[in-house]
Formats: sequence, C-alpha cells, structure tokens
Amino acid sequence: MASNASEDEELAPDAHGLYDATWQQPEWKAMVERLVDDGFVTWKEAAATLLGELNPPQVGTQIASSDAGTFGFKANHRAAFPDESLMSHVLEWFYSESGRCVHVVDGATCGTRLDLQADHVNGRENFRENPHAADTLDNLTLRCRRHNVAKRKSHVNNANRTLLPAQQALMWILIEIQPYTKYDFGRLCRIYGMTMASVRFDEAWAMAVWREREGRYQIAAVAGEYDLIVWPDGAVTRRFASGEPSPHGTQILASEVQGGDVFCFLASPDGVKANLRYYECDVARIPFVYPLDSRPPTDIAIWPTAKGGVPMPPRGLQLHSWVLRRPDEEVHLSALGVERQTPTPKTVNGLKVTGLGRRATVADLSLVIAADAS
Ligand SMILES: [Zn+2]
Repeated sequence: MASNASEDEELAPDAHGLYDATWQQPEWKAMVERLVDDGFVTWKEAAATLLGELNPPQVGTQIASSDAGTFGFKANHRAAFPDESLMSHVLEWFYSESGRCVHVVDGATCGTRLDLQADHVNGRENFRENPHAADTLDNLTLRCRRHNVAKRKSHVNNANRTLLPAQQALMWILIEIQPYTKYDFGRLCRIYGMTMASVRFDEAWAMAVWREREGRYQIAAVAGEYDLIVWPDGAVTRRFASGEPSPHGTQILASEVQGGDVFCFLASPDGVKANLRYYECDVARIPFVYPLDSRPPTDIAIWPTAKGGVPMPPRGLQLHSWVLRRPDEEVHLSALGVERQTPTPKTVNGLKVTGLGRRATVADLSLVIAADAS
C-alpha cells in the first residue's frame, strides 16, 4: 500500500547475492558489533534505529483517515457499519494481527517486526472494475515494507537465498568486502544482482571516501604500484605490489606496475588473425579479486551493465601481446619490421587490427612503445 517504495525494487528477480546469503546469526551478530567497534555507529544509535523500525505503522493515518478519493476504506465502512467509528474497527483489526510480516517466500514466512505496513491481502490491481472495493479491513494484513513492494511487483526471490534489500546490500558490500576501487564496488553490486542506475553506487561509495579520510578504509591510489595477474580463463586482475607468489593456477603478468599506466594488449577468441583486436585498459580500472561466494574469483573481471556485466577482455580470450604505456606514450603494432600506430580503442570491444600485410602471422605481431619523436 505504500506509494514511495519503488526505490526498493532494485534487485534482479534472479539475483544471487554474495556470501551474505550463507550467513547465520553469529556472522550477523559480528557484523553489528563491527559497526560499533569500527566507529560507524554507537550502540545507542543502533538501538534507536531498531526501536524506530519496531514502532507499528500509523494505521490511523493510512486507513482511518485515508483520502476518500484515493481509497475506499471510509465509504466501505460507512456502508457496512453506519453508526460505528472506523478507527475503532481499524484498531480491532490491527490488534488481532500477529504484528509480524506475513509474506511467504519459498515456504518460509518473513516474520519480521521491522518496518511493517498495512497491505492488501487481495491487491487493488485485482479489483480493476473498482479498486475501492479492495479497501476493507478484512482484506488487510501486515507486511514489511520490502515485501509490500515485492508482492506488488511479483518479485520472486531466488532459490532459497535470502538477500538483503539493495540499499542494505550496498553497505554490506562496502563494509564487509571493502572493495579497493569504485569500479570494483560497482562490479560487486552488479554481481550481487543490483539493477539500479550506477549513480546509486557512486553515491554509496561516499562512505568509502569518508572512511578513508578517517584512516579506516583503503582505496587503491592511482599513484600506487600493482602486480598484474593473469588467470587460466584469460582474466587479468591486480593486487598491491608484493613479492608474494601469485594465487595457485595464476601467473604474474607484470610486477610493480604504475597505477597511472595503461594496459595495452592484443587478444583474440581463437588465435585467428582476422579476429585479433587491440584493447586498452587503465591499470586503475583493472579489478582486484574478492571472495565471491561460490563464484569463480575472475567473475569480478566484468564491465558492469544493468543486467550484470560483460566479460572484461582479455577474460575469455587468448592474450597474444601486451605492453604497459604511460598516458603520454604511444603504442605501435609491429609486424615483420613494419610499425604502425594503434589508435586508442573507443569502446570496450577493442579495435579490429588491420593493414598488417598478408605475410604477417599472429606470432609475428607485437606491441611496442613508440620511440620518443623528440
Ligand atoms: Zn517481510
């Protein structure tokens, strides 16, 4: 029945979440303690927030004093009980409820006492001839705000995984996983199953910026040094430069790379020269790896889209040649002693490689930093 809840509808119907979906009471308890211990909130604020969410909804305003033009509660009551006050009937209905959200997902009742709202059992959309006919007390129940929205929009939850609403999931990712860049934050949000505009991620990222200023969050600086790591599926990720071996099954592609450099590479799906493309990616946009629940770690290597994301080259491709350039340097494609400039690709799909002469094979091609003209 709430009208301003559309902002909650921001998870895809098949959203899978991350490892929050596997958390039990001890992990959630530790999370709340951490919010206090790490200085996000005080215990008083945590308690006060819960107390506010527990306060039962204002059914007097929503039902007894509802707008007669919008809702049929007043007219329907007057017709059935001409001499009795609507509010006394509203309270009678209200007190007879369990005071918990009755919404059922995959056989389990939500049951929360938080943020309850009066909601239709049989929705107004099923009374198309006369929506006001839906507005009777015996057609009302209590649902939490989230499930009030979910019911209206036929939101089906995924495979018994109980996910956080998008607003809470944004903070869970930021505080629990602590992505090192805004790009990675956006990737994690898409992997979680969020469908909202990416400006929501930019806004939520403010918490990372604020926390970094307090010395409580690490954002990967463009001025830093990084190791590039290549995975068996072709994905390239990075980590803060260290002398450590790379994760099992991976190789260090380059060590102590400048965060301001550009990773330039030739890749193809099949090693066929006609399918070669030239790509560039700022090192600052190359993802770090994070725990992704049951997903492979290279799932982070995406260009995020509203529907999730597309694999970020060279993930899923064969990497043929690569070079790191400074922003002011030019890369040339070299084949059999001939060099030509590679223009910067305008899209994430790379640039078709042409004009190399017929004799040059894929193995003859390499990328080189152009000699300084000056
Ligand atoms: Zn609920």
